[in-house]
Amino acid sequence: MRFFNRFMLLPILIFSFSSCSQKTRVDLLVYNAIVYTVDSSFSTAEAIAVKDGKIVETGKTTDLQNKYDAKENIDAQGKFVYPGFMDDHSHFVAYSKSLFTVNLFDSKSFDEVVQRVKDFAAAHPNSPWIIGRGWDQNKFPGKNFPSNEKLNELFPDKPVFLERVDGHAAIVNQKAFEIAGVKAGANILGGEIETDNNQLTGILVDNAVGLVSSKIPSPTATQLKEFLTEAQKNCFAVGLTTVSDCGLDNSTVLFIDSLQKTGDLKMKLYAMLSDEKDNYDFAFQHGKIKTDRLHVCAFKVYADGALGSRGACLLQSYSDKPGWSGFLLSSQQHFDSVAKIIYDHDWQMCTHAIGDSGNRTMLKIYAKYLKGKNDRRWRIEHAQVINENDFTLFGDNNIIPSVQPTHATSDMYWAAERLGSERIKGAYAYKQLLDENGWIPLGTDFPVEDISPLKTFYAAVVRKDAKGWPANGFQMENALTREEALRGMTIWAAKANFEENEKGSLEKGKSADFVILDNDLMKEAPEKLLQVKVLKTFVNGEKVYEVK
Ligand SMILES: [Zn+2]
Repeated sequence: MRFFNRFMLLPILIFSFSSCSQKTRVDLLVYNAIVYTVDSSFSTAEAIAVKDGKIVETGKTTDLQNKYDAKENIDAQGKFVYPGFMDDHSHFVAYSKSLFTVNLFDSKSFDEVVQRVKDFAAAHPNSPWIIGRGWDQNKFPGKNFPSNEKLNELFPDKPVFLERVDGHAAIVNQKAFEIAGVKAGANILGGEIETDNNQLTGILVDNAVGLVSSKIPSPTATQLKEFLTEAQKNCFAVGLTTVSDCGLDNSTVLFIDSLQKTGDLKMKLYAMLSDEKDNYDFAFQHGKIKTDRLHVCAFKVYADGALGSRGACLLQSYSDKPGWSGFLLSSQQHFDSVAKIIYDHDWQMCTHAIGDSGNRTMLKIYAKYLKGKNDRRWRIEHAQVINENDFTLFGDNNIIPSVQPTHATSDMYWAAERLGSERIKGAYAYKQLLDENGWIPLGTDFPVEDISPLKTFYAAVVRKDAKGWPANGFQMENALTREEALRGMTIWAAKANFEENEKGSLEKGKSADFVILDNDLMKEAPEKLLQVKVLKTFVNGEKVYEVK
């Protein structure tokens, strides 16, 4: 009898230990999911346990339910979990400002641009400047740059500044020229002040844009906080949990840090400092910055302009503008000297390079300092048009191409006119670039493109527009596989930011940054990928977005 009692007690004890007192407390358990961990073997799981903002474990639903006692349980109902999406090339602050200015994206003519400006001016009679962004002459009849007569007529006393979609050109009115002191016939290195019969047309390209934009009053701290929180709301809704801002000044970086510390800004940022003396002084005095949500260890340099405004620097003339091959935005000597100072201080150099000449110039300067295999992860942003002889410079020197797949599908309608049928083969060559190092980070360059990482995924894999054009895809030899595209938006994006040990995959000890989608990016039919919806977004285990 005594023996029997003890025998009976044992299983009861084991049961009670495993059911409550032995369970580990966690903050969150997401279960009944298909979890793409994006670890090195691309494994899947069913559940994730989270504590203190970090992933404790991923595994089977029953195993994790038996092991953990969670404050909050989320039944994912068979939906799909991915690491939070990262955008490795964006202009988050510029995007936030653009949300509060005239939206000129997708205007079909300059008349439509003028109409939108008139509407905005009527609704905001007290704003001292009229600022807008998003026009693209490639969408206008005739595809020519507009001129500013109508803006001068309508706004004789109010300055107007309207940036092109890529930020590499602008049209301004006469009042803005007067404030900036710009006169016809003036020249600027790395820029163009367009004239027609010795009259200013209003068009400014590349460095000339700054002559006027520098006169626009900066937003107040209260305004900027409002802009940034609005931008973060939109970004969370599309599943972004980290964005790289490619070119900020140090005061904006410190402002972002302060908003993150007060909890007003939950978005994680990889902030590159702009190529300005003040920023180098700041960086080398302060050192690198790494907090839970902010990482600063890179400089952003501009080699050339953009293809759309013919500011990209090409080795041969533009196919649609004989005798013109664009220009570099600074001297070779400048690029070389900043490469040296960045190298010597062990920071990362990230250079915008679009044309094959812009790319070659920077690849050679990078190679001079990197000298073969290394782990500095110096980046070429865009790497858009590469001469066939220059691809190996990426792999030989571990230079990382940081590319934006939606640029390919936005530019494919007219890029061949600029480049010709031969040169375009080395353009938007993402697969060939990936093969150089075996990995490649992806982004959008928003607000140049839409913020959605799902559009990046679709463009990278399918290489068609939303209407399914062209039927066979654009230069499909350079499409990425679904796994490559997902890695480019997560773990490879993290690696390009030196953050692969803390984010980019769903593994023990990493930040609990993840998204729940309603469909499977790995299996959904290509034509349905753009309809995939983000249901929930989490940053450090905290829900920051939920679909309504
Ligand atoms: Zn950019």
